[in-house]
Amino acid sequence: MASRYLEPEIERRSRAAMTRWQSQRLREQVRHAAAHSPFYRRKLKAAGVNPARIRGLEDLPRLPFTTKDELKENQAARPPWGDVLAVPLADVLRVHLTSATTGRPLAFLDTREDWHGFYHSYARSLYAFGVRKADMVMAAFSYGPWIGYWSGFHAAQDLGCLVFPVGGLSTDQRIDALLNYPITALGCTPSYALFLAEHAAKKGIDLAKDTRIRITWHTGEPGASIPATRARIEAAFGAKAYDLPGLTEIAAWGFECDARAGLTHVHEDYCYPEVLDEQDRPVGPGGRGELVFTSLYRKAMPLIRYRTRDIVQVAGRTCPCGRTLRAFEGGVLARLDDMKKVRGIIIYPRRIEELVRPHAAVDEFQIVFRRHEGLDDILIRIDPSPSLGPAERDGLRTRLADELRTGLGIRVTVEMAEPGALPRWDHKARRVRDERTEVPF
Ligand SMILES: [Zn+2]
Repeated sequence: MASRYLEPEIERRSRAAMTRWQSQRLREQVRHAAAHSPFYRRKLKAAGVNPARIRGLEDLPRLPFTTKDELKENQAARPPWGDVLAVPLADVLRVHLTSATTGRPLAFLDTREDWHGFYHSYARSLYAFGVRKADMVMAAFSYGPWIGYWSGFHAAQDLGCLVFPVGGLSTDQRIDALLNYPITALGCTPSYALFLAEHAAKKGIDLAKDTRIRITWHTGEPGASIPATRARIEAAFGAKAYDLPGLTEIAAWGFECDARAGLTHVHEDYCYPEVLDEQDRPVGPGGRGELVFTSLYRKAMPLIRYRTRDIVQVAGRTCPCGRTLRAFEGGVLARLDDMKKVRGIIIYPRRIEELVRPHAAVDEFQIVFRRHEGLDDILIRIDPSPSLGPAERDGLRTRLADELRTGLGIRVTVEMAEPGALPRWDHKARRVRDERTEVPF
């Protein structure tokens, strides 16, 4: 077997060597930010940090956190770029916008080298999934200012793959391309993978049989790290599906490798991960906490201790693939911004997806948090497979209500919609509504 690593020297680096590398990059980044970013100069000063005294990772806890709200406020106060920018604008090559659900999106700038770092680490992930030069790749993300399309495209090209650009194509055109070109790898959101499969099935096309797709990868949402969602995508395409978590502001930071051990490796030579508990103390192996990243490679916007608001679990085991890169158990487990409280119980939409997706007869679903008869309530609307008869639909509803009550620790209302009645999602899904605040997110 050819090497399973694109960069074995990095992917299997000893802990001591990795720590030395990270410490050196951290020193350089903090000095660079302090010297060239007015935003960080103010922040470091306010925190009483002398950049010259930052020696390595051991000094990280002395550095202040950066939040997305802060970056947004900074850009609002000093439009359009804010003053995080630590290079002359002439040195900037790329701009991408974050996909904001509320307010103005954040504009994120990169130099040529920054951009290379973003897509090259992504390419390392594709290689770990098994994508090779001989593959033909379709990156089915939206064409526009979002990073998903561009990073997927450039990453595949970085490996030498032939990339079919489909950013601006319709779903019908994309299906047509999958049928007519020897496309073997497909990247898209997990919701779009399911939408594509359902759309193809309606046209009598079986993507598993009628295309050459052997690998799919998924970003933008955590679905591919949910076993039942992944199994559904794999069955639809007759391929292996992989999760690729990323953040516009940091990197396409992680990947599950072809050992498929349920672990998400981190490109820690590009971005240093901390996992912190509610008191901002590091959690140990097996512990869960908020993921905080320090960018070790980006010079235009060198984020320090950036709070991702994603919850991860530090792996307490090594991956059979032999990589020494730090790993998490099962991708992003929860997003703090998605957390809901219902009658005192904390609910994450991902947990509902974990419970609903194993039911093959559920084509789509929707989660509504509402006030019902004076109480907070969760309504799960189910879009059942058209093949179900009335009695089977009723049975499915009862089973789901039981399993959701047990799994969430709270009673939920399950309602059956007509087949095909609920919205489908051609990019990131918006399956959750909170009618209590009337702000869908
Ligand atoms: Zn691995």
